[in-house]
Amino acid sequence: MSQTNFSDLNLCKELLKGVVDLGFEEPSPIQALAIPLVLEGRDLVGQAQTGTGKTAAFGLPALQKINARSKKTQALVLCPTRELAVQVAGEVSALAAHLRGIAVLPVYGGQALDRQIRALQRGVQFVVGTPGRVLDHLERGTLNLEHLELLVLDEADEMLDMGFREDIESVLTEAPENCQKICFSATMPKDILSLIQSHMREPEFVRIQRKEITVAEIEQVYYEVRPYRKAESLCLVLDVQDFNKGIVFCSTKLGADELASQLMARGYQADVLHGNLSQGQRDRVMGRFRGDSLDLLVATDVAARGLDIDDVDIVVNFDVPFDVESYVHRIGRTGRAGRSGKAITFVTARESYKVREISRYTKAEIRRGQLPSKREVSDLKTTRLLGEVLASVEAMREARQDFKKADRYTLLLESLVDDESSEMDVAAALLKMLIERDQIWPSAAELEAEKREQEEQMRRYESRSDKGARPGGHRDERAAREGRGPVKTRGRRPNMARLFFNLGSKGRVTPSDFVGAITGETGLPGRVVGDIEIHDRFSFVEVPEEHAETIMKAMSKTQIRGLRVAVDIAKPV
Ligand code: AMP
Repeated sequence: MSQTNFSDLNLCKELLKGVVDLGFEEPSPIQALAIPLVLEGRDLVGQAQTGTGKTAAFGLPALQKINARSKKTQALVLCPTRELAVQVAGEVSALAAHLRGIAVLPVYGGQALDRQIRALQRGVQFVVGTPGRVLDHLERGTLNLEHLELLVLDEADEMLDMGFREDIESVLTEAPENCQKICFSATMPKDILSLIQSHMREPEFVRIQRKEITVAEIEQVYYEVRPYRKAESLCLVLDVQDFNKGIVFCSTKLGADELASQLMARGYQADVLHGNLSQGQRDRVMGRFRGDSLDLLVATDVAARGLDIDDVDIVVNFDVPFDVESYVHRIGRTGRAGRSGKAITFVTARESYKVREISRYTKAEIRRGQLPSKREVSDLKTTRLLGEVLASVEAMREARQDFKKADRYTLLLESLVDDESSEMDVAAALLKMLIERDQIWPSAAELEAEKREQEEQMRRYESRSDKGARPGGHRDERAAREGRGPVKTRGRRPNMARLFFNLGSKGRVTPSDFVGAITGETGLPGRVVGDIEIHDRFSFVEVPEEHAETIMKAMSKTQIRGLRVAVDIAKPV
């Protein structure tokens, strides 16, 4: 686990502000290793996967190297898919929020060329693109690499798997001889090594060293969750657990703040602990957690370091940690002093490889859990409530026997009973009030939405198993993933309406946020969503004309990433 601070990395204050805005507390291990080397001008090969913080590992030093006074393209990142290109460009723009005069542009197949050309003509210093489309621009002369200072191959193994080798070679040849080169790849097969050998100058290799570690007898479970449903899924999971004290780990201060507020709003006794709190605030929160007034502490790794509490019976990795060491450190907070402990980890589909990695290194089984349904949770809560009522009835009966007289509650009840309302009526009304107050029963609409989602998941699962193997080097599939081929999952389709959203990468929204919000709020399947285009402060999302009205109505009542949504039909381009 790294103990470096961002301020030790020689980054300029504007970039440090960007990092703070994103809520990053300390560099991830790959960032701590890579940033100084890239700033020094070294060619670098990093073995790192999604979820390790690799984007900022190359994004931050690349931004620092850009001369904002020149409008020439100085940094180029090649990514395998349009989704990744959009995501990387979004994160880089967010990191660059306090730097003046730096333009970042994603270019990928499937998006209208003339729009990209117009943007490139205005001058873009930082381009993120899929290899095919980048090459296309180079051939048309709409992108010029003469002044390129830094070239990054992101997810290089994926790009080679998808058959982009020739395109990458051509781009590498176009880059100036002395241009610095960085290659990130999850695996290092021979063809990557040969690419590195022929195009990079004495590169530094960085990877996170793994120690052999084992974890004590802690029950470990993971859940695959949708990114936009994480808070809701957490509540479902917590509601069926029996625990007294739990710590929920988030990777950023912002995320921790947001989650703690959501938990509090839903009635959990939760509070937050992160690096922005003063010592006084921190002591107060810890005092409450040690006492009985807090069940859940939502914390970042930095804040939780050195905490001395040994009666935590559940640890939740709301965000999966960057590395195995952090995982072990986090979950080691439960199951102490001979108590039993449970560790719960949330991963999105893209992060599920991390669980396998953790399990391999810790030599422990991490069982896959099935999220409880709303119905299951409500049944359990109803049973608990009835149990509490019965225990209370029992206690009152005993008290009455002891004192041989009616208690104040029975007298009150008698005052409510008359010819029209029996004791049964009053008791039923009281139960109804309790169930409604504690929101124990989901609404019919919520149950219906859950059912639709399960059906949709099943359909998606079935269609995935029909297709069989993962997309590989097949040209059509490769083209489709890049977004420029005949088989498009997302891409321009006929009879689609283009919606304008007031949210963009500055608000950290991602394509899956839009798909999630639309499917979640309307019950429509994810496949109805077409092309998604995310700009700094707004986005365009294509949806079928027939559903546009419904979607707009639902979206205008919802929030994405905690931000209010304004949506309209986009003006034709
Ligand atoms: P990546 O591996 O670049 O896809 O990053 C995975 C996620 O971690 C992204 O959501 C980043 O915004 C986030 N992230 C990157 N660096 C940090 C950091 N130092 N602290 C917290 N979150 C980070």
